[in-house]
Amino acid sequence: MSTIQRIIMSMKIYHDEDASFDVMKGKKVTILGYGSQGRAQALCFRDSGLDVIVGVRKDGKSWKQAKEDGGMKVMEMAEAVREGDVVMMLLPDEVQPDVYKDIVAPNIKSGAALEFAHGFAITYGLIVPPKDIDVIMMAPKSPGASERKAFEEGFGVPALFCVHQDASGKARDIAMALCKGLGATRAGIFEIDNFDIETKTDLFGEQAVECGGLSKLIEAGFKTLVDAGYPPEVAYFETCHECKLIIDLIVTRGMGGMWRACSNTAKYGGLTRRDLVVTQQGVENMKEILRMIESGEFKTEWRAEWANGLKKLHGMMDEEDKLLLEKTGAEVRSLFQFKDPKQ
Ligand code: NAD
Ligand code: MG
Repeated sequence: MSTIQRIIMSMKIYHDEDASFDVMKGKKVTILGYGSQGRAQALCFRDSGLDVIVGVRKDGKSWKQAKEDGGMKVMEMAEAVREGDVVMMLLPDEVQPDVYKDIVAPNIKSGAALEFAHGFAITYGLIVPPKDIDVIMMAPKSPGASERKAFEEGFGVPALFCVHQDASGKARDIAMALCKGLGATRAGIFEIDNFDIETKTDLFGEQAVECGGLSKLIEAGFKTLVDAGYPPEVAYFETCHECKLIIDLIVTRGMGGMWRACSNTAKYGGLTRRDLVVTQQGVENMKEILRMIESGEFKTEWRAEWANGLKKLHGMMDEEDKLLLEKTGAEVRSLFQFKDPKQ
């Protein structure tokens, strides 16, 4: 059994009654960034009664949005950091190191807590906070829009939480209170031993499975059918549209529940043919993906790409946009009332 499996199987899960807002009395929570996570977390904290400051660039889109949302102070980032007792880095991972160096480090109070929703900057040493502040994580397992929706429905999404540095002796209580403010304790919060676990598993999941692996699987399946002369619209239904139905079954009922909801033909065909697609070589390659994450090779490559103006990324996205799958998908989706959650 791998180290990560052992850790997960012995993990503790905490709920509402385990977390308290007491530690937040008199504390101001500064949220830097008002995007997917920033806005959702700020609104949930506000509605949970926490004292929220939004730190954004003056007169930008986020500034206007936060003012319009109301019930929170809106300040320029440096001032917001100076005021905050908890400073939350809800900025894109690529920009965090520069914003930390230029704005957070010179202004953060001694004794404050610095919070992250993803461990990238800490795991790879791109941000090294001073010893006199707490460093904590609350990583919601959801995009911001669904997080806010779950909160508004009176529940919450699960989250991982972690203490990297405990200067105040209260770091863990603060992390748990933030989880409570987000409603995450209603679903359940999972404590992890270090930021690396979240950083590396999150990167692996998005590269090998849910973003990278799944998109390639759909694109290859669609192309196989279309190249063989089948109508693109039908290929789209079979290789893309129905994936959502299957994923929903897996997530709500488990693999067994998914298989049992399928026909015996689908069960037999799927179980006997799937190894032709995800081959032993593919599985070995997953280990290589994980190795590049663990060694820091991916981090170095991604930092270089960012420094180079994201040229390769934009080029690859342009190619994705040109796929027949995309044109077909847009046409088919226009027939449905799919609501885009604007994540
Ligand atoms: P985002 O891109 O949606 O929002 C970023 C915000 O930062 C925006 O308000 C943007 O205007 C602002 N910003 C961008 N560049 C800036 C700069 N140079 N200076 C100041 N402000 C700047 O980001 P997000 O997806 O909410 O991600 C925030 C953090 O949450 C990241 O660490 C991410 O890994 C983590 N996270 C995201 C998700 C998700 O589903 N989006 C889920 C879990 C954790
Ligand atoms: Mg993830």
